[in-house]
Amino acid sequence: MNIRENVKKLLNEIPKGIELVAAAKTRTPEEVLEAIEAGIRIVGENYVQEAIRARDVVGNRARWHFIGHLQKNKVKKAVSIFDMIETVDSFELAEEIDKYCKRVGKVMPVLIEVNSGREPQKFGVMPEETEGLIRAISRFDNIKVMGLMTMGPRFGDPEESRPYFRETKRIFDNLKKAHIPNVEMRYLSMGMSNSYHIAIEEGANIVRIGTKIFGERR
Ligand SMILES: *Cc1c(COP(=O)(O)O)cnc(C)c1O
Repeated sequence: MNIRENVKKLLNEIPKGIELVAAAKTRTPEEVLEAIEAGIRIVGENYVQEAIRARDVVGNRARWHFIGHLQKNKVKKAVSIFDMIETVDSFELAEEIDKYCKRVGKVMPVLIEVNSGREPQKFGVMPEETEGLIRAISRFDNIKVMGLMTMGPRFGDPEESRPYFRETKRIFDNLKKAHIPNVEMRYLSMGMSNSYHIAIEEGANIVRIGTKIFGERR
């Protein structure tokens, strides 16, 4: 199986209205390009430097989502490269994004990363703190909150991820009903190679897939 066939299969399989993000960490720009030529429209990058290299080759043929942990000293670069930041999990990070977006006259669509497994070592905001964070961030002029993202705990059996996806969807639905000004609950990004089926059943409309497109990471 090559990248092209993997992408075609996934695009056939994933229902309409669900965005497939190719999670590109550790892949070469050429591999990313191959995925795009097979129909990928959104590339997910964990590292700003890797994204810069891939973008040099791929350019505007894809949209770029940041899906890693964004350090404050990388925000300036990230703001100029990415079309969406999926992993905002603190007021301070949002403040930094807003500041640099203001300078370049851009409004950055962001997702709020929820630590749905409440794992101490993981990034993301705790489920019960999500609404408060979103209300605080909603006051920034150069950020637009557009939904939620979660990783959930890693399991051998992806079925075990289901409660965490369900919990994130519940938060998503409640926030939608809250009608917070300058917040649009449109995207719910959850599910990876081993769990995207379950994430879609639980309401994801963005799935982030690496291994199933590019093969095992080297
Ligand atoms: C690596 C990564 C993925 C994709 O993981 P696979 O198991 O390779 O599909 C999805 N989301 C994030 C945030 C990642 O870092």
